[in-house]
Amino acid sequence: MILDGKMVSSKIREDIKNEISSFSIKPKLVDIQIGHNEASDIYIKNKEKACLSVGIEFECVRFEESSNEEDIVRKIEELNNDKRINGILIQSPIPDKFDFKDLVNHIDPEKDVDGLTNINIGKLANNIDGMVSCTPFGIMKLLEYYEIDLTGKNVVIVGRSNLVGKPLFNLMLNKNATVTICHSKTVDLKLYTKNADILVVAVGSKHLIKEDMVKEGSVVIDVGINRVDGVLYGDVDFNSIYEHVSYITPVPGGVGPMTVAMLLYNTVKNYKKSNIF
Ligand code: NAP
Repeated sequence: MILDGKMVSSKIREDIKNEISSFSIKPKLVDIQIGHNEASDIYIKNKEKACLSVGIEFECVRFEESSNEEDIVRKIEELNNDKRINGILIQSPIPDKFDFKDLVNHIDPEKDVDGLTNINIGKLANNIDGMVSCTPFGIMKLLEYYEIDLTGKNVVIVGRSNLVGKPLFNLMLNKNATVTICHSKTVDLKLYTKNADILVVAVGSKHLIKEDMVKEGSVVIDVGINRVDGVLYGDVDFNSIYEHVSYITPVPGGVGPMTVAMLLYNTVKNYKKSNIF
């Protein structure tokens, strides 16, 4: 069965849109772009479209690669202090001369809609309510929608990024799964993936996961986005695996739209906390 992220995310977006329609002042999200990157341009456009579709104001603040860090930090602080702004994120990747972790930690944790500040990472590890990174949060919402229980399940996550693998590890652990994380230095990846009740793949390698690497009847979540000759592919070889699993996300139409929906969700969550409506 397909885990239909497009359908579930459109329900979430509809709920958000209805909620916002009763607000006198609209929530606002700011995306900071540093340097130029074609893929980022597309992601930013998509975020803008999604925000406007539910009634969230959107602004992209752009800095040239030649900008200095102090100017960017000053702008972040200005946005932190602006009560009209409910969400701030830094579009990655950023040029190598900047330290992403350092810049992100200047964002007010309440407005950190990507859940990447040390405060929000710590809250998640401590199972305290905070801002949760949108992709793992979206995966949890998708599993929740399809009533896939995590208690006692053997979960394997391939990929240990701060954006996906690590926060998902904590979210799933908090839901009583037994969680293993694999990465590029894992010896014999198949040994782990083959035993997973729930397999999440967030690597960025087209069709890394083949039919012989999954357990019969398992749940497979494909986070990967690999653009080859203008076509999108996941990290999982969907066609060969589909018949062998109980649930699987497609690419596109699985995790991607859930990520965008949770970005809107996090922005509205902070808006409601700030009590200005
Ligand atoms: P990332 O920061 O590049 O991390 C990739 C991870 O994969 C790393 O932990 C790396 O291990 C691991 N890895 C690389 N090759 C491997 C291999 N052969 N076997 C096992 N592990 C391997 O990437 P990311 O930001 O997490 O994104 C991963 C993918 O998800 C990308 O395709 C990205 O575009 C996509 N993505 C999609 C969404 C969405 O909304 N659908 C959101 C975010 C990301 P090391 O740590 O050892 O290097």
